[in-house]
Amino acid sequence: MTRLHPAPAARLAAALAALVSCLFLTTATCARAACPPQDAALRPLVFGDPEGRAAPPPFFAGSSYDPGVTSPDTVLGQPQGSRLARHAEILECFRQLAATSPRVRLLEHGRSFEGRPLVHAVITSPAHHARLDAILADLAALADPRGLSEAEAERIVGQSPATAWLGYSIHGDELSGCDAAVALAHHLAASTDADVAELLEAVVVVIDPCMNPDGRERILGMVEQSSGHVPNLDYDSMQRGRWPWGRGNHYLFDMNRDWMTGSQPETRARWQAVQRYHPALFVDAHEMGALDTYLFYPQAAPHNPYLPERLGAWQQRFGADQAAAFDARGWVYYTREWADAWAPFYSDAWGSLGGAVGILYEQAGTSGFPLRLASGQVRTYREAVHHQAVSSLANLTTLARERGALLADQLAHARAAIAPQGPDADRVFVLLPGRQPTRERALVDDLLAQGVEVWRTTAHLALHEADDGRGTRADALDAPPGSYLVPARQPLRARVLSMLSFDIRIDEESLRKERLDLETKGTSRLYDVTAWSPALLGDLDVRWARGEVAGERLTALEPAAAGLEGDSADTVAWLVDGMDDASVAFAARALEAGLVLHVADEPFRSAGRSFARGSLLVRRADNPEGAAVGAGAGGGSSAAGTTAARVAAAARAAGAVAYATTSARSPDDGPDLGGGHFVQLARPRVALLSNMPVAPDAFGHLWYQLDQVLGLPVSFLDAQTLPAYDLRRFNVLVVPPGFELEPVLSAHLDALRNWVQGGGTLVACGNAAATLAGLELGSVVRRGDVLEELDGYAFAARREAQARDIELDLAALWGESEAAAPPGGADGAASPDAAAGDDDGDADEDGAAASASDDDSDDSDDDSDEPDPTRDPDAERQEQWMRRFAPAGAILRGLVDERHWITAGCTGELPVLVDGAEVLLARAPVRTAVRLAPADALRLSGLLWPEARERLADAAWLTVESLGRGQIILCASNPGFRAQFPAGARLFSNAVVYGPGAGAQQPIGW
Ligand SMILES: [Zn+2]
Repeated sequence: MTRLHPAPAARLAAALAALVSCLFLTTATCARAACPPQDAALRPLVFGDPEGRAAPPPFFAGSSYDPGVTSPDTVLGQPQGSRLARHAEILECFRQLAATSPRVRLLEHGRSFEGRPLVHAVITSPAHHARLDAILADLAALADPRGLSEAEAERIVGQSPATAWLGYSIHGDELSGCDAAVALAHHLAASTDADVAELLEAVVVVIDPCMNPDGRERILGMVEQSSGHVPNLDYDSMQRGRWPWGRGNHYLFDMNRDWMTGSQPETRARWQAVQRYHPALFVDAHEMGALDTYLFYPQAAPHNPYLPERLGAWQQRFGADQAAAFDARGWVYYTREWADAWAPFYSDAWGSLGGAVGILYEQAGTSGFPLRLASGQVRTYREAVHHQAVSSLANLTTLARERGALLADQLAHARAAIAPQGPDADRVFVLLPGRQPTRERALVDDLLAQGVEVWRTTAHLALHEADDGRGTRADALDAPPGSYLVPARQPLRARVLSMLSFDIRIDEESLRKERLDLETKGTSRLYDVTAWSPALLGDLDVRWARGEVAGERLTALEPAAAGLEGDSADTVAWLVDGMDDASVAFAARALEAGLVLHVADEPFRSAGRSFARGSLLVRRADNPEGAAVGAGAGGGSSAAGTTAARVAAAARAAGAVAYATTSARSPDDGPDLGGGHFVQLARPRVALLSNMPVAPDAFGHLWYQLDQVLGLPVSFLDAQTLPAYDLRRFNVLVVPPGFELEPVLSAHLDALRNWVQGGGTLVACGNAAATLAGLELGSVVRRGDVLEELDGYAFAARREAQARDIELDLAALWGESEAAAPPGGADGAASPDAAAGDDDGDADEDGAAASASDDDSDDSDDDSDEPDPTRDPDAERQEQWMRRFAPAGAILRGLVDERHWITAGCTGELPVLVDGAEVLLARAPVRTAVRLAPADALRLSGLLWPEARERLADAAWLTVESLGRGQIILCASNPGFRAQFPAGARLFSNAVVYGPGAGAQQPIGW
């Protein structure tokens, strides 16, 4: 579980440290099968723990096993856990167990992107298997006790087995978990010991042995290719993988951050599988740094306030037994030093918020080889596997012993969640529909798929005390028909509130410790982002209101309308509304299909409807029948069929509706469809920078957006060999965030500049944007580089704000007032002193939108001219100090330039995710398409220290700068972040799909 935001070098080291080496199937099999004798001079490659060492100790000493149950040793050809098993081997081990043990059943719950089966094994007594459906129905009744009689509840708590969900190696290169899953399953399936039979009377064990097969296979393939003949005990030898390693799935997503969003098929399949079992125990087995020991729970502070109250006590109890099991074997371990309980998107958090006891393991990183530790001792791979297997058996033993108490607690938790007098029992999240239909559907779909109860109004519903998450409260709210309601009072209350609450606050003691570490050590204790509200990150109209729920309970959403509407022989054009995200996906597919299309720079009316700016226009005159030119690969049947059929195909693929119109003439005073308010687009030919030093996860997020969401073909350019490419073949180059980008980008700065000037659209995100700003590719700058000019940038921000709200002083204009102020310079137009960074001078901090993150150490609240004694008079030293307090991931208010093509689909304000210490500043002629709000209105959700607020206030978040025939687009964050920031992803999509036509000039063929 590599930290999210350590320093680049530490981040790289952490990524490398999680790597492995291994044995692979073909060689292992060959070594034992009837292969031709090898040339004696050929030295075989070595994998796993060396053979010839003393026979490994059994994983579960003193146990005996039914020889009729196929041992994994037989499948693997050597003692299990002494080398890494391939995913196919793991599957085969489980298939054999299921075939030969009446205690085991194997179920497939999904497929990875690369098509590998995702399976879970159910292991319990044959008697329980025979009535598993009834057992699970009982557990479902405890989880949702509405209508459950006291007698029934007593019967279930008294008799029912409890279930455990044990998941392994969700990070594909944290390897020992998968092999431990095999060992544990065999023990449970084949042991003839009385205690195992007893355990399986009390517990239904569900094992998800390989949560990330694509990641595991990726790293195993790499390590296999770089293995040698000579064993190496050096922990650095674990770095035998290469970019992008094995942590993520196919699109390099960290699936241990995907549980709340379910953007990846592995997560969604697991959502469905886990819900069937209502686990009381939820284990997630990882690895950490190679020279570490072993970590398990209780977990560290801060704690999410919506986690079950009893969770800490249960983690103590499970942890005590796990510790005793380690003590008995003389193994080293620790608890509580890190792995906090704050964010709801981790595996174990998701389990805990569903009513289980979530537990995380972190075994010291393994290579599949033996490894020499700092003490001089050697730790074999099998020992690492052993730790994981013993941990799980210890947890299962606790669960079996505490079965009744845990079930009773699960019931009490569920009853409290649905109690009419419970906290917030009359509260409901209201999603008002229509602003962003695609995102609204996605959120509702995510909630339903996680088991959350969602209602939809069928009539107007009156609610009151409605907060919008942006600092505004309405006394009364009319929810129109079609509004979605998510009541707090439901069995999954904890999951609902932890996920949807706009702004959950970290407790004061945790804040104090965090502040102390930042001030004294310059390090943060925070493990990940501090804000995640899907309502904010999707720019949705969600309210937290009081009132009764009414309408229909949803089970699933109907398919969205997509395709043509109103098409006829008289159609002169087709139009797709630009507010919804489906429009940009339509544009991408239509361009790939060779259609000529235009994007509107103003709203307009046609076909009896209103269309937002950014709407798309396909004119029949531009696209005569059979005239497809330059059709791209992504369009599929692009060039086939009539123009209408091609428009329809693109619309269906994008989930958009294309409205036909029979006249180009505006029905009002808006733009006609043949005029200059419609800008012709150019087919994007997209290159995505890849390989070191690009960050694999961020690369993956952007790749996913381009490929899965937009349906664009993407070429990966290797950052290490950038000069080898003819960049003229691309008109969009995307530079994701990375580790140390400056050497690569500075070496090729001239080439990049020339390419941009020739018409390229360069899109750089996160620290790549800051790096290019530091290299002065354009005129956007890093704050730390212009400390002497902050007044000027603040002034530019004020000018921009003024332009948002034009007020004419007619008296001054016509010279009719003596008192009319002269136009004035800086002194008159703004107060640069206040703007330049002393946000504390703003008096309205108690306003509705004011940040709550003020703290006592910020003692500069007085308006006197006395210098702040805590402020370093040296600007650079002060800047360095303030950088310490950079946000780890907070949601801030952005102000949108609604006249720029790149902000299609956005209205006046946009919540944006911000992390890291770099701050970008921009002024004309750069267009700041999204600028962060002034200090007093900046923070929306998450932790933002006053120092960070001062630095980020009025900063640039998304900029577009023309350079020659091309443009530079800089985004201060990763807009594709984990597919959890759809509002950002939209801006990125706009940049890529609209950029080449709307913001750059492409040569016109002749
Ligand atoms: Zn991990």
